[in-house]
Amino acid sequence: MSDIKSKVAYIQGLADGLNIADEATAKVLKAIIKTLEDMAEIIEEHDECIDELDDCMEDICDELDDIDEYLFDDEDDEDEDEEGDFFEAECPNCGEVIYFDSHLCEKMDELICPNCNTSIIGDFEDEEEAEEE
Ligand SMILES: [Zn+2]
Repeated sequence: MSDIKSKVAYIQGLADGLNIADEATAKVLKAIIKTLEDMAEIIEEHDECIDELDDCMEDICDELDDIDEYLFDDEDDEDEDEEGDFFEAECPNCGEVIYFDSHLCEKMDELICPNCNTSIIGDFEDEEEAEEE
């Protein structure tokens, strides 16, 4: 028996011990206790449903974790470490493809090709900047 049901049963026991002379009062008390019993029953059913849903949710989350691990395991690391931090540019002088740190580029006035030491400023705008111009 649930906690709430045993409390209602206790109230029922107390009410049974009363000797209420007034019939109308006795009727009201009986109706209140009956309502409490119904509520306790419904609450218990809901608790069971919530427990079942909780178990289901746990299973679904576990399955999703497995699927996520299976599908994205390798790409996760790359996304977190590199996405948005680097962009590539081709040196107009020697054709060397260079990878730049975008945070570093924001602070620098020019970029030097490490292959031929030519300044390649102006040739590395990313797509956003190109659209604005
Ligand atoms: Zn170069």
